Amino acid sequence: MTDDMPRAQEPPDVRDPALAGDVAASLRDVPDFPEAGVLFKDFTPLLLDVPLRDRVVRDVVDRHAGAVEAVLGIEARGFILGAAIAQELGVGFIPVRKQGKLPAATHAVSYSLEYGTATVEIHTDAVRPGQRVLVVDDVLATGGTAAAAVELVRRCGGEVVAVEVVLELGFLAGRTRLDGTKVHALLTT
Ligand code: AMP
Repeated sequence: MTDDMPRAQEPPDVRDPALAGDVAASLRDVPDFPEAGVLFKDFTPLLLDVPLRDRVVRDVVDRHAGAVEAVLGIEARGFILGAAIAQELGVGFIPVRKQGKLPAATHAVSYSLEYGTATVEIHTDAVRPGQRVLVVDDVLATGGTAAAAVELVRRCGGEVVAVEVVLELGFLAGRTRLDGTKVHALLTT
């Protein structure tokens, strides 16, 4: 093997070139939800489409198989794909929930929203020190939620391998709040 040959352990980032377009076609735009001026990207039609949902899960799994030891899903929509991805990878699933929902001892991180603040929590024993964790959510908007999830993993002593989202709202520049963390979106608008 010469240096300029692609190495087997570095697969191309996109194995299903039609996926982004098919995902885009499946998302439903809901204007003024949950409040006036927000265009909500509803991914529930994607969940109903079994072959497409499988391709989305497979795409993420192929990128991380063998490299992650747990999948973290952000309440609530991150639970759905996150749990499916964890199942396929054969690794544990870690829920990050809104304040007051997790029953045992937690770490908490607060972050700013457009109006006010939000707090998310993780069980203190959910991540082992040094464990490699993949963070999953449906949409990356301002990045505050994903950045808080990354911080929670670090508080537990874990390492975030990447943040995976179905859709990134590029105009909100959420990536800038995730400096130093690999972010992958199936689709960017
Ligand atoms: P943010 O912290 O601003 O990146 O917001 C991300 C969280 O809010 C994610 O859990 C998304 O599910 C949700 N979210 C924010 N904006 C939208 C949107 N336009 N459409 C759908 N979900 C959104």
